[in-house]
Amino acid sequence: MNPWQNTNSAADQMHEMLEHDILVIGGGAAGLRAAIAAVQTNPRLNVAIVSKVYPMRSHTVSAEGGAAAVIKSNDSLEEHINDTITGSDWLADQDVVEAFVREAPDELLQLEHWGCPWSREPDGSIAVRPFGGMTIERTWFAADKVGFHLLHTLFQTSLKFESLTRYDEWFATKLLVENGRCQGVSAIELRTGEVRLLLAKAVILCTGGAGRIYPFTTNGAIKTGDGMAMAYRAGVPLKDMEFVQYHPTGLPGTGILITEAARGEGGILVNKDGYRYLQDYGMGPPDPWPRLRAMELGPRDKISQAFVHEMRKGRTIAGPYGDVVHLDVRHLGETKIDTKIPFVRELAHRYAGIDPVHEPIPVRPVVHYMMGGVHTDINGATPIAGLYAAGESACVSINGANRLGSNSLTECLVFGARAGRHAAAFAAHHRSLDRAALAAQARDEAKRVAGLDGTDGGTERIAMLRTEMTRAMEEGTGIYRDEGSLSKACDVLRTLRDRFARIRLDDRTRSFNTELIAALELECMLDVAEAVAHSALARTESRGSHQRTDHPKRDDARFLKHTLAYSTDGAPRIDYLDVVITRWPPAERVYGR
Ligand SMILES: Cc1cc2nc3c(=O)[nH]c(=O)nc-3n(C[C@H](O)[C@H](O)[C@H](O)COP(=O)(O)OP(=O)(O)OC[C@H]3O[C@@H](n4cnc5c(N)ncnc54)[C@H](O)[C@@H]3O)c2cc1C
Repeated sequence: MNPWQNTNSAADQMHEMLEHDILVIGGGAAGLRAAIAAVQTNPRLNVAIVSKVYPMRSHTVSAEGGAAAVIKSNDSLEEHINDTITGSDWLADQDVVEAFVREAPDELLQLEHWGCPWSREPDGSIAVRPFGGMTIERTWFAADKVGFHLLHTLFQTSLKFESLTRYDEWFATKLLVENGRCQGVSAIELRTGEVRLLLAKAVILCTGGAGRIYPFTTNGAIKTGDGMAMAYRAGVPLKDMEFVQYHPTGLPGTGILITEAARGEGGILVNKDGYRYLQDYGMGPPDPWPRLRAMELGPRDKISQAFVHEMRKGRTIAGPYGDVVHLDVRHLGETKIDTKIPFVRELAHRYAGIDPVHEPIPVRPVVHYMMGGVHTDINGATPIAGLYAAGESACVSINGANRLGSNSLTECLVFGARAGRHAAAFAAHHRSLDRAALAAQARDEAKRVAGLDGTDGGTERIAMLRTEMTRAMEEGTGIYRDEGSLSKACDVLRTLRDRFARIRLDDRTRSFNTELIAALELECMLDVAEAVAHSALARTESRGSHQRTDHPKRDDARFLKHTLAYSTDGAPRIDYLDVVITRWPPAERVYGR
């Protein structure tokens, strides 16, 4: 018998409603920070974290380079705001960027007080390193294992609060919205395979990004856009989804990231002739080094685009996994490499078989980060009452058309904390829950999940659909796009959606049914991918990471606007929202002069 089809047992499971004041979905940097902020705001609130993996396995753990915040006397809030807005190609909301930059130093100092081992200058003060697109060194780091230390600090701190419960290895499948308020989620407890009902007065989505909609990405396998898809299906628009960040230095084959810190510490990019090609792309002359915000410390979108041009000119190096250029850190010497970027050496050795002390590292651009996400206001609130979002799953928006490296971890902290505080205030004033209606919704969801196995004649295999989706995204919505490539991607994604309705799963077990989870993740990715492709098709201009070869210029008159993609029964509906401009009027985005 197929246990997923036993709807009686699915209904029985609903007897036990688990209830909390706040549910945080996600145990990465944003989720843990949000949960801590919520319990600190109101210790009487009962807060739970639901995470499909053990929190320390969240993608945050793999962050390498650092977190940005103004700390040195040669720096200023104004400069950090300026760099972030310029980096965003003026698509970031300026009131949000101001709040972000203002609150960033306190968040990083708070982590220090919770035990984060930030690297030090010889005099004992916090050390900072240069990072792409930042005019001044302001990136705090803990060698090149920043994500591990940051996440561990948050995780350990979260253990101090008795009113904080965790549901590790629970997979949320649906937001439960009743009477216009989000009042919980349904989730699969992976160990037992049971679909459970979790009720709450407020829900905070911190489910991370969706890089896995592409074939070649730095993102962990769990980054499948689940929270984005859940919010989208519930009626919340996804904002600025066409802006997908390529990081210029991924290892060929695996997509494993070689952090920007390698260039921050002095690494250079050269083509097959050993030539520092970025000087040909408006990124300034190579010397004197370091020239911040120029050459190898330019923004990620422009450096990734320069790679494509070098490849077209035949100046890249052919390799078994496509063309590469070389990231050369040899001149830094073994001591500096081992002190400042030891993980770079380890990764290059393990995954490219070379020792960067003696050889250059082969690299190519790789999908890294989603600038877009769940539409929120400055406090993480979405248009649905009681539903909040923060971190990479949200678009608040500080990143606009291109994120600066090291702003994301800080964003998770600043806006995770804001969302936690505001959800706590909301939960304290909205105590009622529509229990019967929510139980009915969760029962329907249990039936839907049970029906996914395709025992009624399904034939499509999820691995095949996933491969076709990632190929369509790479071919149609890559570093350069045009109307033809985007329309084709939209068409392919539509047929994949139809085919998804006819999938067949082989695994009939309940406990840790990874095939079922992969199917649910694929369904989320198809939603997110469609939002990306349609948003990109509608934006007939080039800005930041969104480069249309058929519309190569930025068009502020028509597109100084956020894209909002709404879910419908057919193609996404696209709408626009004005960007908040306060003190920094749009200007030409210049680097290297
Ligand atoms: C290799 C790499 C290096 C990076 N380096 C840097 C850096 O140096 N500096 C910087 O600023 N940024 C960096 N970034 C970006 C930054 O790390 C991420 O944007 C950030 O960590 C995202 O944190 P998050 O809390 O939003 O999500 P994540 O850390 O991805 O956590 C998501 C959480 O959601 C949970 N979840 C997801 N779906 C479900 C579901 N359906 N049900 C239940 N739980 C779910 C997961 O279990 C997980 O706990 C890097 C990214 C990568 C990939």
